[in-house]
Amino acid sequence: MLLAAKWVLPITSDPIENGAILISKDKIKAVGGKRDLIKTHPKETVIDFGKAILLPGFVDTHTHLEYSVFRGMCDDLPFALWKIQVTKKSKKLSDSDWISSAQLGTLEAIQSGITCIADISSTGASLSTALLAGLRGTIFCEVSGMDHSKIDEVVSCARRNVHSWLEQSQNSHLKIGVSPFGVYTVAPPLFKAVSDWARKEDIPLCLHLAGSPDEYSFIMYGSSLLATTYRDLMGWSDLLWQPMGVSPVKYVEQWDVFEGEVIAVHCIQVGERDIDILRKYDVAIAHCPKCSAKLGMGIAPLRDFIRCGLRVGIGTDSPASNNTMDIFDEMRTGLLLQRGASESVEGFSAEQFVRMATLGGAEVLKMEGEIGSLEEGKQADIIAVDISHSHQIPVNDPYSALVYTTNQENVIFTMVGGKVLYEKNGYSILDQEEILACTEPIRKKLKGRSLRHQGVWQACRKWAR
Ligand SMILES: [Zn+2]
Repeated sequence: MLLAAKWVLPITSDPIENGAILISKDKIKAVGGKRDLIKTHPKETVIDFGKAILLPGFVDTHTHLEYSVFRGMCDDLPFALWKIQVTKKSKKLSDSDWISSAQLGTLEAIQSGITCIADISSTGASLSTALLAGLRGTIFCEVSGMDHSKIDEVVSCARRNVHSWLEQSQNSHLKIGVSPFGVYTVAPPLFKAVSDWARKEDIPLCLHLAGSPDEYSFIMYGSSLLATTYRDLMGWSDLLWQPMGVSPVKYVEQWDVFEGEVIAVHCIQVGERDIDILRKYDVAIAHCPKCSAKLGMGIAPLRDFIRCGLRVGIGTDSPASNNTMDIFDEMRTGLLLQRGASESVEGFSAEQFVRMATLGGAEVLKMEGEIGSLEEGKQADIIAVDISHSHQIPVNDPYSALVYTTNQENVIFTMVGGKVLYEKNGYSILDQEEILACTEPIRKKLKGRSLRHQGVWQACRKWAR
């Protein structure tokens, strides 16, 4: 099969105008000019997308597919209050609600050109829907617990889940990892136990790290709403918590968390010494610029990450915080935030952000040998993006078009391993109507007065002063 379009972006080499990609089974066989490839392979079926860009599928290095139905439920709150509200509302959902929510996220992913994910899941719903859709990536099994007396119990439960998920994901594009969720939900000995076990069994690890000022205060000073209201909500208020006097990165280093293969999500509240630690252990970073800005968490020091040679990919987090899984919006916001904060256009270009969202993400997942660019021998994870609209034309530079003018609804084709998952106005591996219909009853369950109307917002503002 030959896929052709006005532009082909191999990522590892220059854009090809009037290009094509030859695919055989699940792999890319050749990338080049359309005329040449048609001439040398005259019997191949040609699918010509016309005014479109063909590029590698996006690698979304941080998702929570099962939280997609929380879209718009917890807006305009700072991080700690947002987390408290999401946690409260989560208790209202049934197993089938979580599946419906993950299906919504999976549908949005394939319709947005996301072909590979690094997802943190507590219910397993992300795994079942990603398997069904044929997405690639790693599903990390969430582990949380602050009670030191229950560490063995929590670790055994996580091991059972991971082994069961490994069985379910055999012969698929998915790998399984483990996620000690974050420093405010995982006790020190649990960090140590999970990290040791993951390293022993060669299981990749992912954690939220150094995201919000609340998290920084929780570790450094033993304070913030994460030390009070959130711990009450989780039933941990009787458990001792003391200020650690160090940064979140330094704190988790001492529990051997970085010894194995690790993705750290966010890494906003980091100083030079923290970045040195991340570099020392070759920790990969999931950079989620839009979520971080929306929740008032800050702007990650991306320039420093890149300068140090850290592996960095783009993550959308989840619609619960970010409202969409739109990698175009993520690239655009990420680039503009860096320029705005530094008062400089030096250092970053549209091309770099497209690379970060494709090959950079593949490097984060250590899959750069298989995906992330259009090259002979790599997996045929390919998307087509329409560039024929009035908000896009004229297209002078395809990188510019992708970052500055394009949105998720401009994706018209998504393929993983040579299999078509989605064609706009055509075939879809997931039933859109059915999935969208399931969300309304869940929305009704989740709706309710926001925390802002319960006085907590005011309490938080007082506390912040
Ligand atoms: Zn997250």
